[in-house]
Amino acid sequence: FGLPPAVNEPMRNYEVKSADRAGLQAAVEAMRAAGPFDVPCIVDGAEVRTGRTQQQRNPGNHEHVLCTYHEADAALTEKAIAGALKAKAQWEAMPWNDRAAIFLKAADLIAGKWRFPLMAATMLGQGKNAWQAEIDAAAESCDFLRFGVKFVDEMYSIQPAEHSKTVYNRSEYRALEGFVFAISPFNFTAIAANLVGAPALVGNTVVWKPSPMAIYSNYLVYKIFEEAGMPAGVVQFVPGPAEEIASTAIAHRAFAALHFTGSTHVFRSLWKQIAGCMDNYVGYPRIVGETGGKNFHLVHKSADVDAAVHQAIRGAFEYQGQKCSALSRLYVPQSMWAGGFKEKLLREIASISQGPVEQFEHFMGPVIARHSYDKILGLIDAAKKEGGEVLCGGRGNDATGFFVEPTVIETREPRSVTMVNEIFGPVITVYAYPDEQFEETCRIIDTTTEYALTGSVFARDRYAVITASNLLRNSSGMFYINDKCTGAVVGQQPFGGGRASGTNDKAGSMAIFLRFVQQRTIKETM
Ligand code: GLU
Repeated sequence: FGLPPAVNEPMRNYEVKSADRAGLQAAVEAMRAAGPFDVPCIVDGAEVRTGRTQQQRNPGNHEHVLCTYHEADAALTEKAIAGALKAKAQWEAMPWNDRAAIFLKAADLIAGKWRFPLMAATMLGQGKNAWQAEIDAAAESCDFLRFGVKFVDEMYSIQPAEHSKTVYNRSEYRALEGFVFAISPFNFTAIAANLVGAPALVGNTVVWKPSPMAIYSNYLVYKIFEEAGMPAGVVQFVPGPAEEIASTAIAHRAFAALHFTGSTHVFRSLWKQIAGCMDNYVGYPRIVGETGGKNFHLVHKSADVDAAVHQAIRGAFEYQGQKCSALSRLYVPQSMWAGGFKEKLLREIASISQGPVEQFEHFMGPVIARHSYDKILGLIDAAKKEGGEVLCGGRGNDATGFFVEPTVIETREPRSVTMVNEIFGPVITVYAYPDEQFEETCRIIDTTTEYALTGSVFARDRYAVITASNLLRNSSGMFYINDKCTGAVVGQQPFGGGRASGTNDKAGSMAIFLRFVQQRTIKETM
């Protein structure tokens, strides 16, 4: 169709005294000064103020209410579903170039006019520092939309290989019959944009329950879609109590798909609910989910120590470890650990600064909420009780916001509590393995947790890389060689994992779009 080529949105660096820094800082200040914003539900394009309100607070400052938002209930969810179904025929019938143009325009709005406000909402509401907000709200959001258009365009062009003189074969990629239900997480504004944008791009209409901890940024995403020309009703924005909204959506006969990112536990429970409603559905709903992780770095004795230390810190502590992909388990040969790795790791961590993200200099900010703060500290305590040694950090400070120090725990038991359980916070547990037991350590990594999202091997020795790659083939959906296990880029590293980490449908690739279409084969005899 002659679409513009997709390129990754260039990342900005917000250097001191730069215009970008000043612009972003001004957006953050303006958002703070404006006081709590009132976020409505949006059903059929109309704002609905239900009066049942909750607050989204700044996780780094208890006093700061970023927004109040109106919660949907079952009745409003029903209305949103009815609206989504009504909007579907026209949306699906829209010519592909026109639909694509809306998403390309939305990407341009994010890259330009809305960049700083969307980042500011992500910083103040979700506790991201400027660079993490740039990676997420600005760059990755644009990338999902622009590459999404490219992948869908390519998908539409996949056609049967053979025709004959009398037969013309073709494939149509139609939207699913019914509506798509999207549940988005707090930790990436871009993931929310993609959970909604991907099914909508191929002609589906979407009922969207955003995370209560990301309401403001997610509302702005909605407004950007609207400004880009998304017709009313295509996306229905219904924040509110998860169980009430989800059970209403899942119980509906026209429920066609779940697009989910969040916890393993919630995903399993939704899957069971869907199974319980099977007899009621028109078809077999598509279930697409990205859930937890317990990700590893395996360092081989041939590795570059400086790089392995540096990447461990970035993988574990950027955004306070609140990425599904974050490093959590670190395996280092004993001689390397004692011979400088440990010392270097602790020295570098000691220089990490942590504080409110409004002050741009901090590498780390707060964790998202009380429940995660308590969970993280609880798991650190449990590790100590088991005999784990806290080498640094280990403490929290919730006087003004939910701050947890970057923490390293050393364990002699590779299946200890913090080696097995997902923490979703700034905690690395290290197991120093006997130098000659590299293969055995791979087997331990493979069998320690139920998750399989991301993992890295650090080695100069190619045989070690190959060994790890083979023995860990089912242990992660993302396998990094000499790099940290976070930071997948749309269009470069399709993202997703297996086992309890998700359905591995690879966001940021064509694969995800195939889940939200039904293909119709047409054979025409000429
Ligand atoms: N795509 C992100 C990364 O590679 C992580 C996404 C997530 O936390 O769900 O770091």
